[in-house]
Amino acid sequence: MKNVLVTGGAGYIGSHTCKALAAAGVQPVSFDDLSGGDEALVRWGPLVVGDLRDTARLAATIKQHAVDAVIHFAGRIAVGESVAAPWLHYGANVAGSLSLLEAMRQGGARHLVFSSSAAVYGLPDVPWVSEEMPLQPISPYGRTKLMIEQALRDYAAASEQRAIALRYFNAAGADPDGETGELHEPETHLIPLALAALDGGKPLTVFGDDYDTPDGTCIRDYVHVTDLADAHVRALAALESGDAPAALNVGSGRGYSVREVLTVIEQVVGRAVPICMGQRRAGDPARLVADARRIRQALDWTPAHSTLPEIVASAWAWHRGGAKATRGQVEAA
Ligand code: UDP
Repeated sequence: MKNVLVTGGAGYIGSHTCKALAAAGVQPVSFDDLSGGDEALVRWGPLVVGDLRDTARLAATIKQHAVDAVIHFAGRIAVGESVAAPWLHYGANVAGSLSLLEAMRQGGARHLVFSSSAAVYGLPDVPWVSEEMPLQPISPYGRTKLMIEQALRDYAAASEQRAIALRYFNAAGADPDGETGELHEPETHLIPLALAALDGGKPLTVFGDDYDTPDGTCIRDYVHVTDLADAHVRALAALESGDAPAALNVGSGRGYSVREVLTVIEQVVGRAVPICMGQRRAGDPARLVADARRIRQALDWTPAHSTLPEIVASAWAWHRGGAKATRGQVEAA
């Protein structure tokens, strides 16, 4: 069986991708420091606990498992944290990724699927953001992603290494079988925070309703994490066939406002999310929706699960079941 190294395989998108790889007949070998992930989510292959900046350990793992392809999720994701503590983001996302690229060189692994982000676009003032838009990140987090995208192009020009950067819009939802889901600590994302508010947590703070959008709240493009995982499996195949674009948006192409998300949650769960209105969050664009035509064509990818009701229903099922079980919060019956 072919082995693929998955950095961040114990994380949210990483664990869903491990499941998708295993279903495609590929063994995922997770490499994770468990700082943001959970060992309990590594269910489809071995786990190596290690730091991305340990180049020798990574190279040894690549050689030991005869890895030719890597999917690189590991890194820090909170935009606010990147402003307050940029060294954490440059350290993990830039130094960590460069260490991985060096380990791939030493270990002879050629192909890389890189977790990039719509944050590389900054504040695009267009209804649908295509890959050709100027790359003007406004946060240290976004800059770390752009720096690595640039490094990948330079490495590809000078060596056998080939990469695809997948620019995620808003990953959401959970595995339809309930085997994995979102477990961020601390949680900062809209849907899990809204579900926690419904389940006795503190009311959700809506970050502003004075944006230039129809209902005043921010519009985002939510992609089901299972569809996102599928995009990675397809990106690997495209790298192997030698026909891979450098960067692809991964989005549904459909935007929902915060209020629309809350309405769908109310419809799915049957109760209204308790909210309080807050200030705008720094760095939030009013609207961020993918022009997702290129990935559909390049990878023959269709977001099969990315309607908002399906995203919310799967996230709610995970919140009520798997997430609590994994955190050990399920009360003895
Ligand atoms: N949001 C919010 N309250 C929260 C978290 C998020 O109103 O507690 C809004 C946020 O301003 C954005 C949308 O929900 O418009 C999605 O935010 P999230 O943090 O989930 O993802 P991001 O768009 O930052 O990647």
